[in-house]
Amino acid sequence: MFDSLKNMLSGNDGDNTVSNKEKREIVREKSAALYEKAKTFFPGGVNSPVRAFKSVYGTPLFIEKGDGCFLWDADGNKFVDFCCSWGPLILGHNHPKVREKVIEVMQNGMSFGAPTALENELAGLIVNNNKYIEKIRFTSSGTEAVMSAIRLARGVTGRDKIIKFEGCYHGHSDSLLVKAGSGLVTFGETSSAGIPKAFANETIVVPLNDREAISEAFKTFESQIAAIIIEPIPANNGLLLQDREYLEFLRNITKENGTLLIFDEVISGFRVGFEGAAGYYDIQPDIVTYGKIIGGGLPVGAYASSSEIMSHISPDGGVYQAGTLSGNPVAMAAGIAQLSELLKSGFYKELNAKTQEFAESIQRYASAKNYKLKVFKIGSIFWISFTDKDKIQSAHDIDAGGMDKFKEMHKELLNRGVYFGPSGYEVGFISSAHNKMELEKVKRTIFEVLDIIFKK
Ligand SMILES: *Cc1c(COP(=O)(O)O)cnc(C)c1O
Repeated sequence: MFDSLKNMLSGNDGDNTVSNKEKREIVREKSAALYEKAKTFFPGGVNSPVRAFKSVYGTPLFIEKGDGCFLWDADGNKFVDFCCSWGPLILGHNHPKVREKVIEVMQNGMSFGAPTALENELAGLIVNNNKYIEKIRFTSSGTEAVMSAIRLARGVTGRDKIIKFEGCYHGHSDSLLVKAGSGLVTFGETSSAGIPKAFANETIVVPLNDREAISEAFKTFESQIAAIIIEPIPANNGLLLQDREYLEFLRNITKENGTLLIFDEVISGFRVGFEGAAGYYDIQPDIVTYGKIIGGGLPVGAYASSSEIMSHISPDGGVYQAGTLSGNPVAMAAGIAQLSELLKSGFYKELNAKTQEFAESIQRYASAKNYKLKVFKIGSIFWISFTDKDKIQSAHDIDAGGMDKFKEMHKELLNRGVYFGPSGYEVGFISSAHNKMELEKVKRTIFEVLDIIFKK
């Protein structure tokens, strides 16, 4: 309270990123009041569960605006943002090119339910710069894209079962909200109420990085498996980086069994490079799904494949999939503006180098002090894990005990103007708007916070 009052009186814009020794606590009065009100409207006060801050301290912050790498909440606190709307904002908040393109297109109306040239333009940017796909279909969310990709795989193969991995998230459609049962290869169990057991029975859940489990599944369910779906860079349950050889193994075993390989690139697409993880590892999947970055902060998802496989989609083929707002012109405009920036030469090189430097200095600091902490990273994604393992490649390997440390770190960072996603299982994102000077300041803040939480 006192700090932010002081800031306001001194005309400070709320910059509380500078470290100092005194104990601080950000004011959350307005956010708290908004949260109380929100609880009267929405289950848990939110429109997506993780926003409710259940795994960290305090009430959720209600955001008033974002600009560049910064966020401001309703109480006027300013943060350097490492959540970036959960991934979409690879150019940071309110990027002028994206904003201007959206405003320009909006002048002509918001939705027609008929084709527009903007759809061709965004599809052209994507397909002409990605050698792994030939045709694409736009949806309005990642969930929809993945759900449609699964239907397509089933339609193409005439098979019902799919394999998914424990620790991968693919949105909230019925077949994919399934967790592992007991045993190496089992039918999944639903991980949400409201999903018929019969649906879950079509989803086989196996651990990541386990070849035996996959081989066993193909033996047990011979000629029944339509697709394996994987986040080739699993980033929804920590950052469970797989070896290229493992992804190649999946590529080969699916080919041998007439099963399609789906890369869910809703996070990794346009993030680790313009061609996503397919390009990063140079592995050709059968179907790819996109979301998050593709819409420049507006709701866009997509699935893409070869012309042959995509010919199964309605109206060309028998697999039905549609959307009132699919290919929405305003959303297309944001996607076009954002992806055009990503295609500029050197974009990823600079962003990835910045992230590497950031992650490595945190690691160096922690290692020098013998703190039990590992920073995993790829492209501009990073994950701070309170563990001493050098590799974490499956959900089982995650140190659940470390989540208490994350909770402490999250609180201390918020109080010092650094915003991380509110769960230790969530990764952090760096955008092109995170400039070196801010990252330097944040690094020092993180060092200070690590000293505090590891002294406890
Ligand atoms: C976010 C995400 C989804 C779901 O996308 P929504 O737009 O939230 O529906 C699916 N798959 C992966 C890998 C994701 O990260």
